[in-house]
Amino acid sequence: PVRTRFAPSPTGFLHLGGARTALYSWAFARHFGGTFVLRIEDTDLERSTPEAVQAIIDGMQWLGLDHDEGPFYQMQRMDRYREVIAQMLEAGTAYHCYCTPEEVEAMRERFREAGEKPRYDGTWRPEEGKTLPAIRADRKPVVRFKNPLDGDVTWHDVVKGPITISNKELDDLVIARTDGTPTYNFCVAVDDWDMRITHVLRGDDHVNNTPRQINILRAIGAELPQYGHLPMILGADGAKLSKRHGAVSVMEYPAQGFLPEAMLNYLARLGWSHGDDEVFSMAQFCEWFNLDHLTASPAQFNNEKLAWLNNHWIKAADNARLAELAKPRLLEAGAVFDGAPDLATVLALLKERAHTVNELADAAMLFFRDPQPDAALMTQHFTDAVKPALAQFAERIATVEWTKEAIAAMLKEVLAANGLKMPQLAMPLRLIVTGQLQTPAIDAVLQLFGRDVVTARVAKYL
Ligand code: GLU
Repeated sequence: PVRTRFAPSPTGFLHLGGARTALYSWAFARHFGGTFVLRIEDTDLERSTPEAVQAIIDGMQWLGLDHDEGPFYQMQRMDRYREVIAQMLEAGTAYHCYCTPEEVEAMRERFREAGEKPRYDGTWRPEEGKTLPAIRADRKPVVRFKNPLDGDVTWHDVVKGPITISNKELDDLVIARTDGTPTYNFCVAVDDWDMRITHVLRGDDHVNNTPRQINILRAIGAELPQYGHLPMILGADGAKLSKRHGAVSVMEYPAQGFLPEAMLNYLARLGWSHGDDEVFSMAQFCEWFNLDHLTASPAQFNNEKLAWLNNHWIKAADNARLAELAKPRLLEAGAVFDGAPDLATVLALLKERAHTVNELADAAMLFFRDPQPDAALMTQHFTDAVKPALAQFAERIATVEWTKEAIAAMLKEVLAANGLKMPQLAMPLRLIVTGQLQTPAIDAVLQLFGRDVVTARVAKYL
């Protein structure tokens, strides 16, 4: 059975790259009816915070990336790591090293001077027939992994293809510090083993860790997962995505009025393709996503594309849900809903052109405040020639059937009777009823406001 995991370090927010990694791991598990595990890699005590854990969980919840197991916390698994270290010492796949950091640095320096790759020289590495230095009772040892000296580590990366690293490149990694705490690569290997992870998808900043983890997994007798290293996400300028490109935290997107389905759709396509398909649901994505067609080259984040997708998903969204999302922003702007048109109906009229829910809320505002038309604009548009037409319009409001079509027909008759063109009446009407010149079609706007509001607002100008 397929088992994947998302294993963030809680040192900040959930960023876009992390969200994409989580999405792919989640979708792959869903594709095979497998299990998606959430693991919090919180062993870096200096940098890990509970707020960051919460931010990750919030981000995944917003996106709807539900996990089946976890969250597991590495800090709660310390006993287990110690147990495996003891077993490895027992089995001879790890050993105590009593060198001080200064001594190790001196070794590295010697190799450097000799023009070689700086490394640990194996002083405490046990070998057949080798006499080890006398144990230093005054020192606490670290535990080192007995990395194979020869041969290569090769894996078929599901994104990058075959990768081979010579064991000569790999030192005898410290797996436990002098205080007994386990180190990063060791914890990851033990976790992936214990959690029976079958597929590891992660950022390609981890490529160099993989051969170390593979050697550890082999030494403890674990089956190897498949690895896929996703290329990083770049900003539009080609530099690694960072703060200066704008929002990097996933949770800044709901605040800007993006829908999770747009973000998911965007991230899905950012590093993976399915023919020419651009717009698809997560149900569809889970059906398609099988690790084929992952892109090996870095992807560029493109805000316009995301906004375009967001517009699509806003149009597809349920209007009551959009109203729920837009309401706080409208209230903040002083919207009054009492006696005003139904918010969901207003949003339905406006959403065609909105790229974000915030844009949509701002556009809707005209329905929820008192119109205060600019005096100069009124003078310009509400001319003497228009006044008789407005009066006739006002008269007919009471009796016209209150549908968009009937209102439009009535407007046309008033225009014809007064020898006017549509904008000559529509513009002052917009100003009078909404306070602004930019609105959706005047018949739709009038219909939405309702007979009473239109009557009252027009009456003020007669
Ligand atoms: N904790 C690592 C990170 O946040 C991920 C490790 C992994 O996926 O193996 O970058």
